[in-house]
Amino acid sequence: MGIETALPAEGFLTTQLQRVINWSRRSAVWPMPFATACCGIELMATATSRFDLARFGAEVFRFSPRQADLLIVAGRVAVKMLPVLQRIYLQMTEPKWVISMGACASTGGVFDTYAVVQGVDQFIPVDVYVPGCPPRPEQLIEGIMAIQRIIDRDNIPYDDQGKRIPLQIAIQPNYQPRRQPMEVSIGAT
Ligand code: SF4
Repeated sequence: MGIETALPAEGFLTTQLQRVINWSRRSAVWPMPFATACCGIELMATATSRFDLARFGAEVFRFSPRQADLLIVAGRVAVKMLPVLQRIYLQMTEPKWVISMGACASTGGVFDTYAVVQGVDQFIPVDVYVPGCPPRPEQLIEGIMAIQRIIDRDNIPYDDQGKRIPLQIAIQPNYQPRRQPMEVSIGAT
């Protein structure tokens, strides 16, 4: 990681405890996937070797909310499922973060019906909205990095009562998609 080159010959450095804590939290985000539909496939792709979420220390998906600090809601949420989502959120460790991935999770998407939640932010605090139907893995990674930048700056917002304020950051859909998989050329043609 290059840290050894930054160390002096004596082999120690001084810093603030809070900076080390933030660095540790930022480098080891553990996501809890709540994938209910097609966005979940892109979420899975994000962890594969092609996109390699491990580069950002966030590939350890946990399926127990008590071992996770980043909830990724990927896909539409039926009203019947909502109590489950809320319970999972409540059981997660503090400080915790929420990404709403895709149009369905953020707005209900094309499912403008009484049976589908028209935006999970009406029921749980959302920190980052990742747009798209579905979003590409690069966009989800950008969303995770946005949260990491906030953790790094020790910028976890609380109100006067100590209650967590959702960040509500919207990621720009600025990735230029290319044909997948990329063409492979072997030898001269
Ligand atoms: S946003 Fe699109 S891709 Fe994602 S769950 Fe909804 S319909 Fe599927």
